[in-house]
Amino acid sequence: MSSNATPKTLLEAVQYFSDEAVCIEYLAGKRWPDGVAVCPTCGKKGAGYMPKHKRWQCSARHPKRQFSIKVGTIMEDSPIGLDKWLPVLWLIANCRNGISSWEIHRDLGVTQKTAWFMLQRARLAMQDDLTGGMLEGEVEVDETFIGGKVRNMHKDRKVKAQKVSQKGDKSIVLGILERASEKKPKRVRATVVPDRKKNTMQAEVGAIVGDGATVYSDEFASAWRMDDKYTHGIVNHLEKYVDGQVHTNGMENFWSLLKRGIGGTYVTVEPFHLFRYVDEQAFRFNNRKHADGDVVTDSERFGRLCNQILGRRLTYAELIGKEDERPEAF
Ligand SMILES: [Zn+2]
Repeated sequence: MSSNATPKTLLEAVQYFSDEAVCIEYLAGKRWPDGVAVCPTCGKKGAGYMPKHKRWQCSARHPKRQFSIKVGTIMEDSPIGLDKWLPVLWLIANCRNGISSWEIHRDLGVTQKTAWFMLQRARLAMQDDLTGGMLEGEVEVDETFIGGKVRNMHKDRKVKAQKVSQKGDKSIVLGILERASEKKPKRVRATVVPDRKKNTMQAEVGAIVGDGATVYSDEFASAWRMDDKYTHGIVNHLEKYVDGQVHTNGMENFWSLLKRGIGGTYVTVEPFHLFRYVDEQAFRFNNRKHADGDVVTDSERFGRLCNQILGRRLTYAELIGKEDERPEAF
């Protein structure tokens, strides 16, 4: 494979990215498409590459003037090689039901704890940066309940978990989906909410759905609907009729993917980490089709994820709340 041809399959990706120089070239091309390296510390353009050290050096004199491709990305401070990081990003971008830290541990030879932390950092890159604007046109709003494993948790974690939204011992996830139109493929935004009260729901929906949209939801929406902003189509599940456009099938499709991932792959998702798994599934869901309806390839979806690794960081302390459990290498 020439260095210009990007891999198409997992096997090709593992082979391709086994060469660190190739990884650096790939990521640098994503980060600086015009070929001009920018210093992450001072923002000065034109840092020079030192192939021997696999680092760039800023021409201005200041601390940290030398930097690797990992600086300023989710991989900053990670001693794990790019030959492992890029296959992990490939896997999480493309595995329909997600990938567990145990699978990464077995396949790539890092410890399970390290793999878990790599995946949590990757999920940070999968977070929607909301640059796509408000959801418009035909929009489906629905909520679902997930989890219920708080009871078996260690006491410290249990207290933390209970601070997160709960209905009984389940978490509530609100999902809002913009149906596909001629201009764009469908897209979903899903978020963990503390409750289903009118104020909570109206704030969430109002922040994401543009005025004038047609909102389809179930009969529960009567508790929060905003008739001054939206036209409402309400599905009455009791009467079990689907009146043409009045349905929430798009959201139900997303919930089934999310639950299959969480129930199958991630058997121990704790409530306070749930939003990361929701972000992960939403990323894959929103990167399935191009505007013209063509399928997004694995290689393209991986590329899109690599575009989002910049400017996002997650330290172990932030993730866990304490430093002492940190694995030796992550
Ligand atoms: Zn600089």
